[in-house]
Amino acid sequence: MSALAVLALGSNLGDREEIIRAGVRDIAALEGVELTAASGIVETPALKPDGVDTDAPAYLNAVVTVETTLDPHELLRALNGIERGHGRVRAERWGDRTLDIDIIEFGGLTLNSPDLTVPHPRAGIRAFVLAPWLQVQPDATLPALGRIDELLAATGETPSPYPAEPLP
Ligand code: ATP
Ligand code: CA
Ligand code: CA
Ligand code: CA
Repeated sequence: MSALAVLALGSNLGDREEIIRAGVRDIAALEGVELTAASGIVETPALKPDGVDTDAPAYLNAVVTVETTLDPHELLRALNGIERGHGRVRAERWGDRTLDIDIIEFGGLTLNSPDLTVPHPRAGIRAFVLAPWLQVQPDATLPALGRIDELLAATGETPSPYPAEPLP
């Protein structure tokens, strides 16, 4: 059995574009994971618990879809391994990071375990997730929230396309 999952990547430290690119390649290289689509890269200012922080380095973000035979927790562990491989250190909440990979959606499942909530609870209000996601799944919806094109419009934000070769 396999499921289609939506993953969001973000980086605001180091060679951000190369880190996002390498992250996508690492995802594709996972056993039991096949890359099925990749968005373009977008750039947005860093968001901290107190709001937008224009002093922090800006983020590059992208979204990919994968077909996977892993279960959601196995996938999360594999993605955490990739983050660590790129020097991710967890310090302050929403702190600067080399690479963050979140599971946005997993086969239409709803999951609420201590270490994994699916769909990602903040995806519906994040333009930096919704805009690239819309590029790869124009008709996607979030349970209880609705169509992601409408959710993106409701954010009132338009993440800037970042000039880069197509991923990976
Ligand atoms: P946010 O979740 O608001 O995007 P973050 O990505 O900065 O914040 P992290 O420090 O990367 O947060 O992750 C904290 C924990 O979130 C992880 O250890 C993981 O167990 C948990 N988590 C819960 N749901 C998810 C999900 N859907 N995808 C990734 N991690 C998740
Ligand atoms: Ca693979
Ligand atoms: Ca995140
Ligand atoms: Ca994360």
